[in-house]
Amino acid sequence: VPELPEVETVRRRLEPHLGERTIAAARVHDTRLVDPARPDDVAAALAGATVTTLGRRGKYLLVHLADGSTLVVHLRMTGNLLLAAPATPAHIRAELDLDDGATVLYTDQRRFGTWRLVADDEALDQFLATRVGLEPLDPDFTWRSLQTAFRGRRAPVKALVLDQRLVGGVGNIYADEALHAARIHPLTPGGALSPAALRRLADALRAALEMGIEAQGATIRDFRTPAGGYGSMQERFRVFGRDGEPCPVCGKTIVKLRVAGRGTYICPHCQRLPRPS
Ligand SMILES: [Zn+2]
Repeated sequence: VPELPEVETVRRRLEPHLGERTIAAARVHDTRLVDPARPDDVAAALAGATVTTLGRRGKYLLVHLADGSTLVVHLRMTGNLLLAAPATPAHIRAELDLDDGATVLYTDQRRFGTWRLVADDEALDQFLATRVGLEPLDPDFTWRSLQTAFRGRRAPVKALVLDQRLVGGVGNIYADEALHAARIHPLTPGGALSPAALRRLADALRAALEMGIEAQGATIRDFRTPAGGYGSMQERFRVFGRDGEPCPVCGKTIVKLRVAGRGTYICPHCQRLPRPS
C-alpha cells in the first residue's frame, strides 16, 4: 500500500518525464477512477494540457497543469503510474500519451485509486484542507506541531499518526517503524505523550519516511516504481511484519498486536505501555 515514501518516489521518478510535457491524448477506461466526474470529460480536459510540475501532499500526488488546474491522484491500495508497459499489461485504468511519444499508464488491480481534476489553487487548497494535516517532511514539522495535533486526545498514538487529517502520508508500515524507533507503545494515548516522547516521535517519523524514500519505497505486493522496479524498504523493516523475530535493539521477540484495527508490530521490551496515572 503506497504511503508517503512510495508516492514521493513516484513523484521524483515521474517528474523528469512528465514535467513540461504536453498531454497529446488521454484515455480513462474506468468510471470509478474519476467518479463523480465522467471519464470522457476528464480525458477531454487533460488532452492538450501542459504539465508544469509534480507535487505531493501526504499520500496525494499533484500533477499541476499550466492552466492552473491540478490532477490529484491517490494510488490507494494498488495504484501504479508506469512509464513503460509491464510485460503482462493488466488492469490498465487510464493512459496519458505525451507529446514526446511516451505513454504514462495507470494500473490499479483493486480499483480504489482516484483521479480528481480540480480547477485552480483555491479549489486544491479546499480539497486538501479537509483531508491532509501536517506534512512530516516540511521543515516546520516539529514535536510542537505534533503536540498541538494530539493535545487532549485519548486515542492511541498509532491511530492519531494514521489519521491523515492530523499527519499526512503515514500508513501502517512507517507508523510501526517510527513508534519502535521512538520507543513508544502504540496504545499510549496521544495526548499523554511527554515533550521528550513527542520529540523522539517527530524525529523517528521523519527518519523512517526519509529512509523509505531513499529505498524507493517498500514493495510488499503491488508497489512499483514508474520504471516498473521494486522498492527495497521492506528489507530494512525493523519491526513491521517481523513477529517472532528478535528486536534489532534489544533482542527480545517482536510481537503482533491489533491497534486501531490494524496489524501492529512492536517490541514489548523497548515499547512499554505507561501505567495509567
Ligand atoms: Zn526491543
